[in-house]
Amino acid sequence: MFSVVVTVISMVCAVALNYLIFPDAILSRTVPGTIIIVTLVSFPTCVFVGAKIRENVRLSEELRRLVERDRLTDVATRDFFFTRMAQEPEAYGISLMIDIDFFKRVNDTYGHLTGDRVISHVAQLLQETVRSNDIVCRFGGEEFVVFLADADHDVGAAMAERLRARVANSPIDEAGTTLGVTVSIGGSLKAATDHIEVAIQRADDALYRAKSGGRNQVRMFPVTGERPVAVGESA
Ligand code: GH3
Ligand code: MG
Ligand code: MG
Repeated sequence: MFSVVVTVISMVCAVALNYLIFPDAILSRTVPGTIIIVTLVSFPTCVFVGAKIRENVRLSEELRRLVERDRLTDVATRDFFFTRMAQEPEAYGISLMIDIDFFKRVNDTYGHLTGDRVISHVAQLLQETVRSNDIVCRFGGEEFVVFLADADHDVGAAMAERLRARVANSPIDEAGTTLGVTVSIGGSLKAATDHIEVAIQRADDALYRAKSGGRNQVRMFPVTGERPVAVGESA
C-alpha cells in the first residue's frame, strides 16, 4: 500500500514537472517514458524502504517488550516498575514484597525447569488477582513486588491475604505430581510523600517477619508502631 501510494504520488509529480518543463509538442513523447522510469525506480525502492521500516518498528517493539516485560513470567520488569513509579512519585498505595517459600527445595528436588514453571505460575496468579491498574513486577529470582494503587492499609492487607490464599490454594501439576506452593508477603503503605524505595524497604522488613513467623502469611508494616502486624495464617 505504502509503495503503491508513494509510486502514484511520484508519478503525478513527475508528469506535472513534465508539463512545466517541456513544450506541448514533445509532451506526448516524454510522459510515457517518465511514467515507466518513475515506476521502475520508485516501486522497488518503496518496497525495500517499507520492509526496512516495518522491520525497525518490529525490533523497537521487541526491544521495548524486553525492557518492560520479564521474559520468563511476562509481568513487569524491575526497571519498568521503577520507571512507572518515577512517573508518579506522589502515588499513594500499598507496596507488597512477595517471596516464594522454600523455593530452593523446589529447584533441588524437581530441577530448575520446574522451578521456572513455579515462578511463572505464581506470577500468573498474582497478575490475575490484582486489578488492572496495579503493577506486578518480578523483582528478583523468586521475589515479586506488587503496587496496589490507591489502596489504604486495610484494603492492601485484605488484597495481600487474597493473593496469599490464591497461591496456597492453587497447586501446580508437574510431571505427574501436584506441587503445593506458598508465598510470604510483606506490605507497607506508600504515602504520597514517601519514596517508593522506602516503601519497598518497609515491605521487605514486614516480609522478613512473615518468614520468621512461619511463612505462608502476610505481615503489614504498621502505619504507626514498631512491629509488623500479622494478617494471614501460618504454614
Ligand atoms: P525462603 O522460604 O526463606 O524464601 O527460602 P527459599 O528457598 O525460597 O530462599 P532462597 O533465597 O534460599 O532461594 C531462592 C532460590 O531461587 C535460589 C536460586 O537458585 C533460585 N532462583 C533464583 N532465580 C531463579 C530462576 O529464575 N529460576 C529458578 N528455577 N530458580 C531461581
Ligand atoms: Mg528470595
Ligand atoms: Mg524464597
